[in-house]
Amino acid sequence: MKNFNIDKMKTNLINGLAHYTMESNLDSIDMNSLLGKELKIHFKKEINCTNCNTLIKKSYGGGYCYPCSSKLAECDMCILKPELCHFANGTCRQPAWGEANCMIPHYVYIANSSGLKIGITRSTQIPTRWMDQGAVAALPILKVSTRYQSGIFEKLFASEINDKTDWRKMLKGNIEEIDLLEKRQEIFEMFGDDIDQLEQKFGTNKIEILEQSEVTTIKYPVLEYPEKVSSLSLDKYTDVGGILKGIKGQYLLFDSGVINIRSHTGYKIDLEYLRG
Ligand SMILES: [Zn+2]
Repeated sequence: MKNFNIDKMKTNLINGLAHYTMESNLDSIDMNSLLGKELKIHFKKEINCTNCNTLIKKSYGGGYCYPCSSKLAECDMCILKPELCHFANGTCRQPAWGEANCMIPHYVYIANSSGLKIGITRSTQIPTRWMDQGAVAALPILKVSTRYQSGIFEKLFASEINDKTDWRKMLKGNIEEIDLLEKRQEIFEMFGDDIDQLEQKFGTNKIEILEQSEVTTIKYPVLEYPEKVSSLSLDKYTDVGGILKGIKGQYLLFDSGVINIRSHTGYKIDLEYLRG
């Protein structure tokens, strides 16, 4: 029996198809190969902090105990809102972590997840970030030197472009195609003056306008999309599962409903293969 604490699924983009794996106590589970099979996830009523492993009743900040969530830089508000990065003030919770993760090149991208969205990511997280969001296509439009700078651009563009994914819509499939190259052009025209000003502010050698970058398209291992998206949570049900119909973003799509794996980080489970 495989029992392990849930962590976000790892992704690999191979020939345009997202491949998912989960790390169990015994092995690395190739999730794509489980499509069409009947699975059961049994919650063992134990959650462990993903940082310090302490047994906790409730997880904070996506898988942490309360002390870790209030102490780690990766749990700070500026991770959700990069425009609030306070590294420059000398108040980063963990300057070495900030140095390694925030004070490095970032991309501002546009993507089609449940429609057009704007987002940012570390250069090392391409294309992982896009698969985690269930994007079917993505295009980097700016390369900047720090997380903070990416946040300022994102906030600027978010005045006109959605910065969130409607996950229910994303999980229904049939996402209408968007010409991202055309959208990039529109954005550069619409925000030309603002981009110039920010380039001046941050230094022209710090900001790279990506006029030639190419669109990445991503397909997902899905046999069938749900007509109605009902959400399964281990806080509500001890056992969830059914026939695995697909995987998209960080969601497993069962015939009985969908479960967001990432939001259960640290939950200890048994994973059983029932049939198929
Ligand atoms: Zn902890």
